[in-house]
Amino acid sequence: MNIQEIYDKLYDRYGPQHWWPAESTFQMMVGAILVQNTSWRNVDKALIQVNPYLTPESIENLPTDQLAQLIRSSGFFNIKAKRIKAYLTWFKTYDYDVNKVKEIDQQQLRRELLEVNGIGRETADVMLLYAFDKPVFVVDAYARRIFYRMGFEMPSSYDAFRSLVEKELPDNLAIYNEYHALLVEHAKVHCKAKPVCNGCPLLAICERRLD
Ligand code: SF4
Repeated sequence: MNIQEIYDKLYDRYGPQHWWPAESTFQMMVGAILVQNTSWRNVDKALIQVNPYLTPESIENLPTDQLAQLIRSSGFFNIKAKRIKAYLTWFKTYDYDVNKVKEIDQQQLRRELLEVNGIGRETADVMLLYAFDKPVFVVDAYARRIFYRMGFEMPSSYDAFRSLVEKELPDNLAIYNEYHALLVEHAKVHCKAKPVCNGCPLLAICERRLD
């Protein structure tokens, strides 16, 4: 059993996932902050409200309390409004130009993102991967759950988990893009909180560690 084999089996079953689900890179960035500690369903509702303002310049001109009301359905809306504003302050140092940010070295960019108030490791890596085309493995609760059940002894530290996976995979943006999306899909279809192992594409190679 290896990490590439899991990817192959998930890809064979679910196919390309076309992530991140967003109409623009900026919507993707805002969505990555809104999804912290909530479900995508709640993010969708918030995005519908905030959609008329979804350019960096419009959000910049929107008072923070008004932004908070628009994203209310995503929960923790006052905190998230401040986080979006903090993120914009950083993004503005690159003239809101995604291509300028893409030119930054991956490690340097990660450090900069982590310095933004409210951007933790998972959100930073989601931005690196889906906004700025950097090949990075996103460690989320679904990845932890699936790898644990499969029988892997993964480190509890975010960065150690990520490094371990990245050592096993080729330096290929498309694979990282799909892998995170495939794990999310798999956690929704089969490896749910209460797993549906019958028909699971990983059944033959899974230890089914369900404690
Ligand atoms: S066999 Fe069961 S526990 Fe293992 S990955 Fe599939 S759904 Fe999860």
